Order: sequence, then structure tokens, then C-alpha cells
Amino acid sequence: MLCLGIESTAHTFGVGIVSDTGEVLANVKKMYQPKVGGIHPKEAAQHHIDNSPYIIRDALDVAKVKISDIDLFCFSQGPGIPNCLRIGAVVARTLALKHEKPLLGINHCISHIEIGKEKTGAEDPVTLYVSGGNTQVIAFTGGKYRCFGETMDTAIGNAIDQFGREIGLVHPGGPKVEKLAKDGKWVNMPYTVKGMDLSFSGILSEAKRKFKDGVSKEDLCFSFQEVAFAMLVEVTERAVAHTGKEEVLLTGGVAANKRLQEMLEIMCKERGAKFYTVPFDLAGDNGAMIAWNGVLAHKAGEKHEIAETKINQKWRTDQVDVSWL
Ligand code: AMP
Ligand code: MG
Repeated sequence: MLCLGIESTAHTFGVGIVSDTGEVLANVKKMYQPKVGGIHPKEAAQHHIDNSPYIIRDALDVAKVKISDIDLFCFSQGPGIPNCLRIGAVVARTLALKHEKPLLGINHCISHIEIGKEKTGAEDPVTLYVSGGNTQVIAFTGGKYRCFGETMDTAIGNAIDQFGREIGLVHPGGPKVEKLAKDGKWVNMPYTVKGMDLSFSGILSEAKRKFKDGVSKEDLCFSFQEVAFAMLVEVTERAVAHTGKEEVLLTGGVAANKRLQEMLEIMCKERGAKFYTVPFDLAGDNGAMIAWNGVLAHKAGEKHEIAETKINQKWRTDQVDVSWL
């Protein structure tokens, strides 16, 4: 069985083709790059409209299959930017109807976890999901993926990108901030963990202020990472302690950061937990994760009528009925 998954929650239009055993036959994606500032919803949607036919074609070519070989079509139903979500939804509905195949709407955040579990071998981890739009500490308990902690304001990826723009880095700032941080030294930054939740607006304002005061980019990048990542590790560690789980999974676009990986690894080692990071090409938003979560839901017997495939921009991780676990 082959599943084609479409991702279009934000900046990325991605198409993945995955087998029912989890083999990724294709994972093609293209990212919208804003000329100035952050993601402009209409521009991002236009990017997805313009690119979707070619990305689907390229994914089929890479997988060496025909569209008629696809048995199941899936798409990111939410959460995300409505203009962007709609493009993936319309494309997926059209393909499913035209080829008379089942269609499933998939929760974007949970698909990041499921592809991570599939590719690392983690079975029942506490997941730190860190991306441009989301920051959540999640674990499966009582039949649902529960959020044990999350950001109260902006996501860590967005905070890093905003800070990056302030110091003149082209979007996305994450990888460039990581590089500059290697040559930086410590300056004070506010550390904001409230209970199990996090806030990145304070550190963002302080980094901007210090930059205006003449503190070097390198020192700011280093200190921003050290403080923000320490906050993430603290909440993840407490979730591990609460749940008694023995694995930690790092996923989402920010999972590419080697320093964050290192800090989590140290915490896990100290607690005797196993640490896993999603493979790099499956870390950021992509269609393969949507396809794989689709396979899981399909095997569990899920079926969605077209009327049930409206986008759900605020679809929370803990609202999803997890039929496959
Ligand atoms: P996603 O939304 O999951 O596609 O992830 C995109 C986010 O990951 C953006 O905010 C990037 O800046 C961030 N990102 C990518 N690579 C890195 C990195 N090496 N360090 C920190 N953030 C990163
Ligand atoms: Mg994401």
C-alpha cells in the first residue's frame, strides 16, 4: 500500500510518498522565503499554489510510481495558517476524488511525533516538538497525546528567526544563529519557565535591546541558545519525571540544532533515559510525516468523508483521537 501525504501548514509545501511499512519512497518539499519579515499568509499560499503541481510530479518521479499507484491521500488538516492549509486540503481532496481513493486529514504536530518514533525506534517517548510555529512537550497518556508544557507566546523557532532578522540574518535564522553561537560568550538573558510552560518574548526583547546597546551578534546568539534551550530541557526533564517515561524524542525543525541535541542528551544520560533525534531530512515540515501518520490512521480503520476534511487551524495535539495506539 502506498500513501501520498501533503504538508502545507505554513512555509513549506511538501509531498511524501510512504509505504505501509514506513519506507519513505519520496519526500519532496519547497519552502517559501519571505523577502522581508516573517511569513506573509497570502504570499505563502500563493507559493503553495504555484508549486504544488510540480512538487507532486517530482515526488511521483522520485518514488518511481504513477499517481494511479497511490492507495491513500492525506494532508495536514491543522494546526496552521488557514490560507496555507486550504491549498493542501483542496489538492488532496481533488486527488482523492479524481482517483477514487480514501482521504484522511492528519494532525500536523502528531505527525512530527509519529515519523520520529518510526525512524528512531522510540516507542513511548516524551517528545520535545520545537519548530517555527510550535513548541510543545508531549507524551501519550490516558489515550491521548497530552501537552505537558508549551509556549505561552511565540514558538522557539519563530523567536530565533525574529531575533535573527533583528541582527540582519536572512530567514530562517536558526542555522545561522547556531553557527554564530559557536564564537560567542555569555551575557545575561531572562529565563522564563512558569510551571510547565515557557515564554520566549522576554528573551527576544532583551536580545534585541542588547543588540542596540552594541553587544556582539556572536555573544547574543550563544546566550540566546543557552538560555532558551535550558528552558526547553528543564520542562522536558520534568515531564519525564512526571510520566516515568524512559525515552525522549526531539522533533520539529529546531531539532536540527546540535547544541539543543547535546543538552537534551546530557539530561537524558543523567536520568538514565534514552535520547532520540528525528533524522535531519524529516525534522522540518514535510509530506512524508503526513503520509506515515495517514498509514497508521488508515490501518486503524479511520475514514474521513469529504465534509470532515475542513481545515482546523487551531487543532490542538490533545484534541486528536489517536485511533492507532
Ligand atoms: P519547521 O517549522 O518544523 O519546518 O521548522 C522551521 C524552524 O526550524 C525555523 O524556525 C528554523 O529557524 C528552525 N531551525 C532550522 N534549523 C535550525 C537550527 N540548526 N537551529 C535552530 N533552529 C533551526
Ligand atoms: Mg511543524
